Amino acid sequence: MRFLPVFLDLHTGPVLLIGAGDLARAKLRLLAAAGARVRWYATDGDHDLSGLSAADAARIELASGDPRAADLTGVIAILCAGAGDIGPVMSARARALGVPVNVMDDLAHSSFIFPAIVDRGDVVVAVGTGGASPVVARRVRERIEAALPARIGDLAAFIGRWRKQIHGRIGEFPLRRRFWERVVDGPIGALVLAGRGEEAEAALKDISDASAFAGASVSGQAEGRVTLVGAGPGDPDLLTIKALRALQDADVVFYDELVSPEILDRARRDAARIAVGRRVGKPGIGQDAINKLMIEAARSGQRAVRLKGGDPFVFGRGGEEVEALRQAGVAYSVVPGITASLGAAAQFEVPLTFRHEALRITFLTAHKARDAETVDWSTLTDEKMTVVVYMGMTAASSVRAGLLAAGRSPQTPVGVFARATRPDAQAVVGTLGELPEVVEQIDGGPAILIIGDVVAHSAPWRHQNLNHMISKLLEAAE
Ligand code: SAH
Repeated sequence: MRFLPVFLDLHTGPVLLIGAGDLARAKLRLLAAAGARVRWYATDGDHDLSGLSAADAARIELASGDPRAADLTGVIAILCAGAGDIGPVMSARARALGVPVNVMDDLAHSSFIFPAIVDRGDVVVAVGTGGASPVVARRVRERIEAALPARIGDLAAFIGRWRKQIHGRIGEFPLRRRFWERVVDGPIGALVLAGRGEEAEAALKDISDASAFAGASVSGQAEGRVTLVGAGPGDPDLLTIKALRALQDADVVFYDELVSPEILDRARRDAARIAVGRRVGKPGIGQDAINKLMIEAARSGQRAVRLKGGDPFVFGRGGEEVEALRQAGVAYSVVPGITASLGAAAQFEVPLTFRHEALRITFLTAHKARDAETVDWSTLTDEKMTVVVYMGMTAASSVRAGLLAAGRSPQTPVGVFARATRPDAQAVVGTLGELPEVVEQIDGGPAILIIGDVVAHSAPWRHQNLNHMISKLLEAAE
């Protein structure tokens, strides 16, 4: 993010507009609509104000003379639109004085840029692409336009009118936030959005106990809770809508190292983020300490999210955490996530089951060779079973030994899928007999192993076969 979106108060001083033609007039209309005072240097001398209301036109000062010598005292921003060579000159002057400047379609000479805008009264959404593509910004704006209720601005204004009063009635910030969430998400908000503002006012007036309305416990404190959320395998677009909602609601997020920064970015901006997981080679704070942190957060009235890679209940110790929360009497819920094997299967086209070919799936973990030794491989001999191994990279030799000893064919197709659904995802395929060598080609975890005939249907397997065929053909041709 090179440009931070901020909202400029246009009442604090004039904006200098330099330029001519349609470009300048478009900016003039935008500024006038936003209530700006504009000092306009029309570089072609044509101060055409047609199309502006009398009130807007009254706030526009028509300047003459050389804009390069304009007095910049008190000017809050400078805009050059269709100003030709004057743009870079004004940019240099503005920068020397620290005044924000925009030269249209000239990123190098601009210290701020204009976003695409969704304008719904008090609710304004700004969409930027850092100047890279106004077309993309406009497309995003269109989607937001379509998603936002038409009266969303009325809702903001409604809350604005009541804010001070409610502030006086609910001292505690988290509880106040929840009060407004219930207003916005509940029947009162619906009334405003339906254009029935008076009824909404009456309903809000009727609330006698604001804290109780906000869902305070008997002690008058906000009710805390913990949500175990599955973050999926890495791609933030694979979060469920429920997971996203929990993240947007959270006061604090306890996350594992497996959770990608892009996913953490989807949490509420001012939520506290606390890393609690293990990293390769570095111990985490430990399960007991994690449990304690979650319980403390909930007891202090916070909405805590425990964010875990994949699904919380697939090799994620979610079961233990739920037990601890239950014992502590803390309210909790679980939001499932897409587990790593499903992410990898979808990305690399490994159908985990296949009619007549693969009728069972086993998920197992073999973290260390020692774990692998405790697995009863004799239960995995069924050729129609797909075996998925989590945390299996270091134990690859033991996995091979176990499965071969149990009678699985060394020709059984295997795939190792690393960093699935992330931008740097990697897949290597081979046979069970070569499993350790296949793992060696992986450039780093996390990775899962998928073993079974279904791997032969996967995209990397097909590509490998195609490459074999091509090189055979080339050899034959020589
Ligand atoms: N709860 C998680 C699993 C945690 S155990 C889930 O449901 O996915 C950690 C193991 O998950 C890693 O060692 C690796 O085997 C696997 N894993 C997690 N993310 C992965 C990814 N993006 N690609 C491949 N394997 C992954």
